[in-house]
Amino acid sequence: MENILFLAHTEEGGTLGKPALEALTAAASLGAPMAAGLVGATAQPVLERTLAVCGAEFAESRYATDAAAAEALVRASGAQIVIAPHTSRWARCLAGVANRLGGRADTHVTAVKAEGGRISISRWFYRQRMEAEFTRTHRPWIILIEAGCYEPYRGELAGAVERVDPPSVSCRTRVEGLQTPKADEQTIRPDAKLLFVAGAGWTKKQRDGREHVQEAAQLILEFLRATQASLGSSKSLVDLSGEGQQVLPFLTHLNQVGQTGSTPRHPKGLATCCHGEEPHVVGWRFIRERRAVNIDPNCGWARGKADVVYVADAFEVMAKVNELLKV
Ligand SMILES: Cc1cc2nc3c(=O)[nH]c(=O)nc-3n(C[C@H](O)[C@H](O)[C@H](O)COP(=O)(O)OP(=O)(O)OC[C@H]3O[C@@H](n4cnc5c(N)ncnc54)[C@H](O)[C@@H]3O)c2cc1C
Repeated sequence: MENILFLAHTEEGGTLGKPALEALTAAASLGAPMAAGLVGATAQPVLERTLAVCGAEFAESRYATDAAAAEALVRASGAQIVIAPHTSRWARCLAGVANRLGGRADTHVTAVKAEGGRISISRWFYRQRMEAEFTRTHRPWIILIEAGCYEPYRGELAGAVERVDPPSVSCRTRVEGLQTPKADEQTIRPDAKLLFVAGAGWTKKQRDGREHVQEAAQLILEFLRATQASLGSSKSLVDLSGEGQQVLPFLTHLNQVGQTGSTPRHPKGLATCCHGEEPHVVGWRFIRERRAVNIDPNCGWARGKADVVYVADAFEVMAKVNELLKV
């Protein structure tokens, strides 16, 4: 069996984040000899052999330092297979590392398995419509595991940290700090149990012949605050701003779910004022339990795309739900 390197960047205190622990479960499932390789300000032991490139300059995400550290760790470990979490930090640089090492990298991998000493992986193609299982002969083979596909590793994290000399890197980029939205302004929450989708219906004329965009914004934000659900949107709704129409100010194209948007992985989803057309619903591929609220009993969701469709006015339903959430 080939040697595996589990490759992760560390969080505060040298610990591992959830995507890294999920990738560790994937790596451990191969049952092969394995070492850990860590990059960060500091590192805690993970496996009996834990290699680490540490230092202040490796704390922040930056292509030059991350790529150099990852390359040094793969070389020091002598591993043929590298398993890493598909974080934005690794996704940015590991293809370049594979190139430097003369290997190959595969991103968005949803499963790895070893049969008869041969490792194969699964990933989706063509906007998540076709799943393929394949293997490669190039080595090293860097495999980035998509978040949410494995349970976080629950085994003991123990061993000794072996320092690998930090490579000398000339950096043009200096990290001066981080600017992030306040926690309650951040509406995309990949770890949330529920995806709440808002469709264009929220901004359309209602039964009284008028638009109620302010009310819609209040209902949606109140629900998100109470449930900490993640906010998704249809394309029509996020496109409205370009058409000069009244819009929900907290939505951007990053919220868009669907063929030309994202394909999130929440256990449950609730679509409101959204028609449920195929280019939107294709982004729900991994949502296991689907419900929708629509005044139109003939909407797309009612045609076998949702488990439950509530034929009702979403303004009334969400006002009642928010009231019940306060109890
Ligand atoms: C190449 C291509 C790629 C695309 N990619 C995407 C994509 O990635 N994501 C995506 O979302 N779309 C995508 N689309 C667009 C998609 O086909 C639909 O146009 C879009 O999803 C419709 O958005 P919607 O359901 O919010 O709006 P609408 O079709 O306008 O539907 C609004 C719904 O709200 C309901 N409604 C109104 N008021 C209420 C109320 N008070 N209570 C309950 N329900 C109410 C109405 O009955 C209606 O069903 C793509 C299209 C193409 C051609």
